[in-house]
Order: sequence, then structure tokens, then C-alpha cells
Amino acid sequence: MIPDRFGRPLRSLRVSVTDRCNLRCRYCMPEDEYVWLPRASLLTFEELTRLAGVFAGLGVDKVRLTGGEPLLRHDLATLVGLLGRVPGFSDVALTTNGLLLARQAADLRAAGLRRVTVSLDTLRPERMREFARSARHAEVLEGIAAARAAGFTPLKLNTVVVRGFNDDEVEDLVEFARGHGAEPRFIEYMDVGGATRWSPEQVVSRDELLRRLADRYGAVTPLSEPGGSAPAERFRLPDGMTVGIIASTTAPFCGTCDRARLTADGTFFLCLYAERGLDLRAPLREGASDDDLARLVAAAWRDRTDRGAEARLAVARREALYTVSGLRADPHREMHTRGG
Ligand code: SAM
Repeated sequence: MIPDRFGRPLRSLRVSVTDRCNLRCRYCMPEDEYVWLPRASLLTFEELTRLAGVFAGLGVDKVRLTGGEPLLRHDLATLVGLLGRVPGFSDVALTTNGLLLARQAADLRAAGLRRVTVSLDTLRPERMREFARSARHAEVLEGIAAARAAGFTPLKLNTVVVRGFNDDEVEDLVEFARGHGAEPRFIEYMDVGGATRWSPEQVVSRDELLRRLADRYGAVTPLSEPGGSAPAERFRLPDGMTVGIIASTTAPFCGTCDRARLTADGTFFLCLYAERGLDLRAPLREGASDDDLARLVAAAWRDRTDRGAEARLAVARREALYTVSGLRADPHREMHTRGG
């Protein structure tokens, strides 16, 4: 295993397979227009698989496909199959908004996908229309049902909790998850690139969420998961139901973060908040060997000192990380390019 400067091993990889998305969530892509990655810069499945193999050779055993919306990438099941054959990967997972899941779930499962997380911020179609500018709520629900039918259990459901938008739905989302054999995970609203309308007042903290859950259900018990590096802290409700909370804004997990990120154009990021990434596409396309690429990745990781979310926590007057013009100047700063 390759340790970074703080001893954090390189163990997991998030691959953003496209920067495009079919939703316009207010906390991620609220603008009317975006600067997209040039098409010619997007890596082919073979190129992505080769780079993923380089990471696997350095000790990465978990890979998650994300975006943008990963199911917009044509024939994603083929990539899942290719990644599943990379020696060393024990787990290929997917994070999706669910819109296109109903028609793809069975193929993804057959291709070897192991786990699926679906983003579900509201149970109310009219809220989704306003908040994500989409009238396709029913398709998300169909996607969740199809994922379950295809055998993706336990399914995880991600909710970004935003005060004044969906914080009154926490309990309803827990009950929805229960009814669908899923685990709900509540994510604190983060001031990542793209969240141009972020303000501290809209963040519903882990502590507040725990209080709300305790008020409704009774004592909430933390599940001890020693050595875990997963972002979600898991809790058990008195009736045995488990709930995850991802407190990246008020209690970041930088100390155990083992995640590398690769964008659809082959830029390698050491942190969701990193100012710059390392271009792996140019050496890849100029004929670098796998060993050459591994040396580049390992050197960058060994030098890693990023603790982006903790650094943000230390900012006294916290506001959106980038302005719209800052994002236009470099679309790699966007959450939808980096992969959430
Ligand atoms: N399109 C897919 C989806 O919706 O799950 C994958 C990409 S999306 C960027 C991945 C996750 O990041 C989603 O669960 C989304 O809710 C979360 N996310 C995006 N912007 C966020 C923000 N400002 N704060 C917290 N989570 C955010």
C-alpha cells in the first residue's frame, strides 16, 4: 500500500465517467449553462480501464463509478464488465440519480456491478421539479424498484439535506428506505465547486440530524466500525434500522480519507477540494507504459497532504468555494466533473 504524507493509504478510486447530468440540482448544478469537457478529451472505456488497472496495481481494491450522471455514458455495463476483470478490484459500485436505472439495472448486475447508491433528495415530485428542474420523479422511484429487483441489496439512498428545502422530510425518507429495504444516508450540504448558492445557514449538521432522529425514534446508537474509512457514520435506531450520516461539512473524515478521483478526461485528483489535478491523459496517449503511469500516480499520492474539508472548516467566514466565473475558467473545479 502506498501511504501519503499523513500515512493514509491509497485504497479507493472514484471514476467520474461523464461530466454531463440530466438533473440540475440546486446544490450541484444550479446554473443555466456550463462549460463541458471537450469530447475528444474523454477517455475511452479501454483507456479508463487501463488507468484503473494502474491504480489497482498500487493497492486500490474498490472502485465507484460516478459523475455527472454515470448512466448517461453510453453502454456503461461494458465498462463495469471491463473493470470487474481488473485483477485486484474486489468491488465495483455506482452512484446514480436513478433516472435511467430502471432500464439498465439488470444489465449492470449481469455485468458484475456489486453495489448501487441512488440519490433521492425528496419524496415530493413538485419539490424535485423546483429543486432539480426535473419532472421525472417517478422514474427515480422506478429505478429504485428495478435496482432492488435486480438484486442490489441493501441499496443505499443518498439525501443531501438542505435547510428550507427538504429538512422536513428526514423522517419520511427513513420510512421510505425502510419500506424499500434500503439504507438511508443523510449528507451535509457541502461547499464544493458547483455549490455556488451554498451558505452555512442551509447546512443541517450531523448533530441536528441525530437529535431529530432521536426525537422521533428514541435512542440512536453509533455502530462501531473499527478501521473504517467510509465517509458515512452509521447509526442504529431502537427498532434495528440503520441510518448513515455523512458529515463532510461539520465533522470531515479527512484523517482517514483513502480516495483517489479520476475525471472522465483522465485528470487525477487527490481531494474533492483540491485546486488542481494531475493530467494522466497526456502521458497515457503519448505512449507511457503502465509502470510510467504508476510512478506518476504513486509520486503524487506519496506527496499528498490534502485535508480539503478540514481546511474549509477552519475558514472563519465561510461561503461558496468558487464563483460562477471561477468555475467557467476551469470546469475541473465542478463537483459534476470531479465526481461526487
Ligand atoms: N449523478 C449521480 C448522483 O446523483 O448520485 C452521481 C454524481 S453526484 C455529484 C454524487 C453525489 O454527490 C450525490 O449523492 C449528490 O447528492 C452529492 N452532492 C452533489 N453536490 C453536493 C453538495 N453540494 N453537498 C453534498 N453532496 C453533494
